[in-house]
Amino acid sequence: MKVAFFSSEVFPFAKTGGLADVSGALPKALSELGLEVKVFMPLYKNIKPEVLSESFGETKVSNSMEIIFIKNDEFYLRDYLYNTPEGDYPDNLERFSFFCRKSLEILKEINFSPDILHCNDWQSSLVPVYLKSLYKNDPFFKKARSVLTVHNLAFQGYFPLDKFGIIGIDEGNKADLEIYGRINLLKGGLISSDRINTVSPSYAEEIQTEEFGCGLDAVLRENKEKLSGILNAVDYEVWSPETDASIYHKYNFGSLKEKIENKLSLQKEFGLSKGRDKFLIGMVTRLAEQKGVDILAESLPEILKKYQVVILGTGEPKYHRILSSLVESYPENFSLHLKFDETLAHKIYASSDVFLMPSRFEPCGLSQLISFKYAVLPLVKATGGLKDTVTDCISDPQSGTGFVFTEYSAKALIEKADQAYNLFQDKSNWRLLQQRVSALNFSWEETAKKYLSLYGQVAGTGLSPVL
Ligand code: ADP
Repeated sequence: MKVAFFSSEVFPFAKTGGLADVSGALPKALSELGLEVKVFMPLYKNIKPEVLSESFGETKVSNSMEIIFIKNDEFYLRDYLYNTPEGDYPDNLERFSFFCRKSLEILKEINFSPDILHCNDWQSSLVPVYLKSLYKNDPFFKKARSVLTVHNLAFQGYFPLDKFGIIGIDEGNKADLEIYGRINLLKGGLISSDRINTVSPSYAEEIQTEEFGCGLDAVLRENKEKLSGILNAVDYEVWSPETDASIYHKYNFGSLKEKIENKLSLQKEFGLSKGRDKFLIGMVTRLAEQKGVDILAESLPEILKKYQVVILGTGEPKYHRILSSLVESYPENFSLHLKFDETLAHKIYASSDVFLMPSRFEPCGLSQLISFKYAVLPLVKATGGLKDTVTDCISDPQSGTGFVFTEYSAKALIEKADQAYNLFQDKSNWRLLQQRVSALNFSWEETAKKYLSLYGQVAGTGLSPVL
């Protein structure tokens, strides 16, 4: 089976969030299952020319997988992927329609006729739109079927309606892309793709409701027979404390007691008061409304009186300001890093006792799965993928894998943190919990098989639910 996979960010070449992790790992796992995979992404500024061979930029990862970089210096040679701190690039429609169109043209140029075109989020949502319009009668794409994975419904790619001409398709297709008086690329993708997938079963349900539907819930309900949810996984080649070159001290399932060395080193590096018994809460996140930064900020003064918190994050300036204003009052307990830093992220996972994710909504969430591997107990709000992957140790002591609160409030968050700390004080029980979560397996190997089954269904005729 031949698969063309389209993504605006692919780890390790470009990353702003979980989409990059998925796009770096899933194609690799699919190729290991015997599929032939070509991954398409834009050739951004930081990507070094030495990894590339041909004129449009191609790099071979293995015999069955290649990454093809779409080159357009005017569009992609910039400091950021989608926006500057001042806001979105004004020509994102031009940039990503070019990406989709050019990728399809290159498939023809290299004579790679795919069975599946796997698109991700709004940036590649025009691929299924072009397939159903410009390439409708093209024999090259006759057998091609499209799958669109929604990694986050909150990002839809909308633009003024008078820019429709830039997309380069017939006016007759306009209704598919239009909603609330604007062009909405994700809507076009949802309607035009043969199958819609999202990154957890709970999120697949939630996005059909008004509360989580971000204005597209009606479109999703109308298309629910082609909608499914497959949980993301973790690339254990990147995320394993046993082999992680970025952390202070490596450890594994058999040597969990050595994990503490990481906490002590992190406390030292960032000037926190040192101590094995200090309860360290970690967070690595985009600082966006979605991630629950408002209830985090509200609860921090109370939490920082008792526990240590290390936050690595970047995003909205107002959250940078709010969090920065707390540093001075708790110098021994609060370590704040307002940036994107891959190495520090690894150190935080390795050092933390608990990892905090108070998300308002969370399509899947990767950090809680990474935390498990590092023997860190996630403390999460019950929503989306967090609900599907973390169970509460308080209500379910025999098999709980973290701490789960249900009411979106600072009070509920603080209460859960206190409960977690109570368990933490019983060292032998805490070790059992660490062992339990670090033994969990969220590998791409298993997840890729679910995608294979989904591809099989869509390449045939069926719309039956995925596993
Ligand atoms: P989302 O895609 O919504 O941002 P996920 O939990 O799915 O959230 O994925 C987040 C990924 O991005 C994780 O790998 C996390 O470690 C990483 N990440 C988020 N913020 C930062 C940051 N400031 N520095 C380094 N890595 C980060």
